[in-house]
Amino acid sequence: MNDLWSECIRGLEPYTPGEQPAIPHLIKLNTNENPYPPSPMALAAIRQAANEDLRLYPDPEGRELKQVVADMHGLSPGHVFVGNGSDEILAHTFHALLKHRRPVLFPDISYSFYPVYCGLYGIEYSAVPLDADLQVHIEDYLRPNGGVVLPNPNAPTGSAVGRGELKRLLEGTDGSVVVVDEAYVDFGGESVIPLVADFPNLLVVQTLSKSRSLAGLRVGFAVGHPSLIDALTLVKSCFNSYPLDRLALKGAVAALCDQEHFEYTRNQVIASREWLAHELRSLGFHVLPSQANFLFARHASHDASALQKRLRERNILVRHFAKPRIDQFLRISVGTDAQCQSLVNTFRDILSTTRIANAVPNDTDLKKM
Ligand SMILES: *Cc1c(COP(=O)(O)O)cnc(C)c1O
Repeated sequence: MNDLWSECIRGLEPYTPGEQPAIPHLIKLNTNENPYPPSPMALAAIRQAANEDLRLYPDPEGRELKQVVADMHGLSPGHVFVGNGSDEILAHTFHALLKHRRPVLFPDISYSFYPVYCGLYGIEYSAVPLDADLQVHIEDYLRPNGGVVLPNPNAPTGSAVGRGELKRLLEGTDGSVVVVDEAYVDFGGESVIPLVADFPNLLVVQTLSKSRSLAGLRVGFAVGHPSLIDALTLVKSCFNSYPLDRLALKGAVAALCDQEHFEYTRNQVIASREWLAHELRSLGFHVLPSQANFLFARHASHDASALQKRLRERNILVRHFAKPRIDQFLRISVGTDAQCQSLVNTFRDILSTTRIANAVPNDTDLKKM
């Protein structure tokens, strides 16, 4: 059957998203969704937009949404690109801005969609190792490259580097594009959007999926010099004139304008994250410092994949990556306080009733690896 497939897609490795099973009473902490509902104003705007105008195509440029994003950051709409989730924007970015003679650089432990885009568009990349504590070092990226992609905070580690560090990277890189994927920045990171005016090679990508609780609406945006935005627009216009539908455009505008709901829910997530990190540490987990809406944690004596399975039996989903260096970690999205409390109770139960079946390498062994 595969002989009907285009040659160029035969070896492609797709991205695997976290599972979305239809199990009732599930505590779903595996895909970094926001546990709180979206802004009531966004829901009202979407309902209001569900009218007879749906017979008409939406604005292909998403002008109203671009204006709102531009106003938020004191820029012009020419500095803004909008897309069907930031994943789509990242795909266009790899295609339009990162295919060069030299390899694109991103961390070895990072968003696993990046190598997938490289495969799709035939882009060479070089994975730059995080240090033994799974942190990014800017010096490692100060070398000839075809572009740099850094999620900040990084995923799945949750660790962030400061704006000063990224400024150092931008000052040391002038011949290539630096993409900062700020999917989680609203949970405690420092955005580099203020640097866009000074660095024409900087592209910042954000999403409404996490901090605005709208993963289901599929809206993201990018901010950068108009020449970078023009490249994205060109690729988009060769692919899909209307990536954002009428409901998404209206809902996104209303969500971005509801500052009060945004502040309340993100502060709630940040407070729950700190509480959960403390509780997990007292249960024997090593928890990386996180500026995101998730924690990356490893137990001192219990195998991560076994723990994930035990949680799943009790209707709690967390994410485990069977990958070198991180296969003893669990990535746990921060839920409501009640969900976090259930997780802690369940872990306490599992840890007290499970014999230590698998020897897990200790810290010293890990550092040697
Ligand atoms: C969730 C996520 C995205 C994509 O989000 P969209 O829902 O496509 O906007 C992009 N980058 C990282 C690092 C993410 O975790």
